[in-house]
Amino acid sequence: MLAESSTSTPPFFSPGHRIAVLLPLPLAGAYDYLVGDHGVVAGDFVAVPLGHREVVGVVWGAGAGDVPAAKLRPVVRRLEARPLSEVTRAFVDWVAAYTMAPAGAVLKMAMSVPAALEPAPGLTAVRRADVSPVLKETPARRKVLEVVGWLPPLSPADLAREAGVGAAVVKGLMEAGALETVELPRPPLFQPPDLTLPAAVLSPDQRRAADALVAAVGGGFSVALIDGVTGSGKTEVYFEAIAATLAKGGQVLVLLPEIALSAQWLERFTRRFGVKPAEWHSELTDARRRDTWRAVAHGEARVVVGARSALFLPYPELGLIVVDEEHDGAFKQEEGVSYHARDMAVVRGRLGGFPVVLASATPSLETMANVQGGRYGLLHLPDRHAGAVMPEMNPVDLRRHPPPRGRWLSPVLVQALEETFAAGEQAMLYLNRRGYAPLTLCRTCGHRLQCPHCTAWLVEHRSAGRLICHHCGYFIRLPKKCPQCEAEDSFAACGPGVERVAEEAALLFPQARMAVMTSDTCAGPHAAAEFVRRVAAHEIDLLVGTQIVAKGYHFPMLTVVGVVDADLGLEGGDLRAGERTHQLLSQVSGRAGRAERPGRVFLQTYQPDHPVMRALCSGQRDGFIAREAEMRRDAGMPPYGRLAALILSAPDMGLLDGFATRLSRAAPHGGGVEVLGPAPAPMALLRGKHRRRFLVKAPRGVNLQTTLRDWLVRVEVPRGVRVQVDIDPYSFF
Ligand code: ADP
Ligand code: ZN
Repeated sequence: MLAESSTSTPPFFSPGHRIAVLLPLPLAGAYDYLVGDHGVVAGDFVAVPLGHREVVGVVWGAGAGDVPAAKLRPVVRRLEARPLSEVTRAFVDWVAAYTMAPAGAVLKMAMSVPAALEPAPGLTAVRRADVSPVLKETPARRKVLEVVGWLPPLSPADLAREAGVGAAVVKGLMEAGALETVELPRPPLFQPPDLTLPAAVLSPDQRRAADALVAAVGGGFSVALIDGVTGSGKTEVYFEAIAATLAKGGQVLVLLPEIALSAQWLERFTRRFGVKPAEWHSELTDARRRDTWRAVAHGEARVVVGARSALFLPYPELGLIVVDEEHDGAFKQEEGVSYHARDMAVVRGRLGGFPVVLASATPSLETMANVQGGRYGLLHLPDRHAGAVMPEMNPVDLRRHPPPRGRWLSPVLVQALEETFAAGEQAMLYLNRRGYAPLTLCRTCGHRLQCPHCTAWLVEHRSAGRLICHHCGYFIRLPKKCPQCEAEDSFAACGPGVERVAEEAALLFPQARMAVMTSDTCAGPHAAAEFVRRVAAHEIDLLVGTQIVAKGYHFPMLTVVGVVDADLGLEGGDLRAGERTHQLLSQVSGRAGRAERPGRVFLQTYQPDHPVMRALCSGQRDGFIAREAEMRRDAGMPPYGRLAALILSAPDMGLLDGFATRLSRAAPHGGGVEVLGPAPAPMALLRGKHRRRFLVKAPRGVNLQTTLRDWLVRVEVPRGVRVQVDIDPYSFF
């Protein structure tokens, strides 16, 4: 039996009792209400009065506030929706306490589709009325009445189609009383997965890993990392754990970093289980979102594949979570409640008493530390499937083999591309920079075109004819005159973006069929799926793109990958710059040579001796991780120490700095806690707001949340200043 389906019956509260109701709003805590004429249980969705409004919240438990009972207002009504499970409620509380967000703000994520709380309307179908009225008969009407006699109730539109008549004929018969309507239950949106389909024949390594995962299913909480090179079959392996969980009656959640780009994953799942999983991401329509939420709550959706927000769906029987590409930065949410979906998935598994599987070719240092500490199990897949070899890695030293002036592709890379096309194979050029050029400056006076609302340059997007701020969306056309020196036509594009690389490639290889894949050219799952189809069908010879091309795609004919600027991610030097660059470039490289034809990767760099380039080119990943870990340990940085960021922002700089100074004076010290700042954030201005940052560092044993809470209550936050707490920050802008 899976742990979550066997939770005890929730406490019952009878009429007149005082209960706590948590509202999906950023308030300090739950509010007390009185149970109305009908009893409620913990977890029930209830409508309650709040000021002059009515708000739907969740019964969180017995009331505990000190408002006198006589002043409490009663619950207005109880909704039909299934109560939120005890585990989900505990999860909301846990996430709130950890991230220091108000519990209501976390609950809001678990109630993201208010419309789903109302009962689903049935389907309206028509059948022949018992008593037939006197009718004006027409051939069309006769046909409908004939068809309706031997078919089950159908929707009016389907009936018209079956009878081969227009919709108006059916409507007329309904109005005349010859057809009557019946409410039918909706057919399920998701079919149960087919567990009788054959699994892949696993290699011995894959078999060992799959067996270990399957053995853990149903055995309570555990975490296992599948550490396997790109193309080693991690997906096939965790599919076995999914099958085992489904067979035991559990629901499964698979978290992917970019679900909108996962057409290939969905196809593979459908082939293995005969049905589509439920998808959960920001591109769903409102109706789809509502229906999916309900299907999850009713246990009809057995497998959900989603982005991080899928963690907060109301699963009644969750029995397994898989976090694929666990190292991916997309799992960290920065806006609103700031949480890391991988870490919260582990918490969800612990509260629910079921296994969690992490998969990656380049596991995060956090996860590796947990493996080394014996908290997570390790399953290793050292080889690519079916004898495919890892690609050959070639550093291209740009000091020795520079591209011609004003160009970005080294002769070494150009030659490799030539060879690829000549052999009828495909290539990919990777540059993690959207647009044409990251900087536009005036050749006469050196003026740089900047966003007026952000500390950021405007990025030229030549295809769109605009210069765009990538932070706030502000844009202009390229001005004729320099706003500073008034020189005409004096602007020059500096540095390359993908558009510019594509322009160069088109000049060099006019015959090659090319596609540029970025979030600008490929918005939404359909566009992404179409790109992938075209590449897989070899309708494209050269794919140029940003990090969205790095995602787990499998293109058998893709043999050469060129990284245009391998040093790019190393700039800025934040805590994880090296680790992240290594992960991203490994993943990009992993696209090359995944089938019979061997792959080659070219890394254009000015720092071929940088530890990241060395690790990539020698394949010595573990040595690299060990050295990074050593540096983090020495610096007391995560995962060996704890870190939190405090971001203060306000439109008024004086007010902001005054507050930052007061906060600084009240800063905690002792016990190994170190407060750095206040400092202007690297993005000192963002969307018109000034920003200041503190970083708080502490040894692992310190309760960082308590430290921060005690600090923040000592200084009053002025109106107009916003304070964001980011526990375990990943971005430092
Ligand atoms: P990873 O997730 O580790 O990058 P995948 O699971 O995507 O690897 O596998 C790479 C390719 O090899 C996929 O096309 C997959 O279908 C295929 N593959 C892996 N293992 C097997 C197997 N045991 N039998 C058949 N095909 C496999
Ligand atoms: Zn801006």
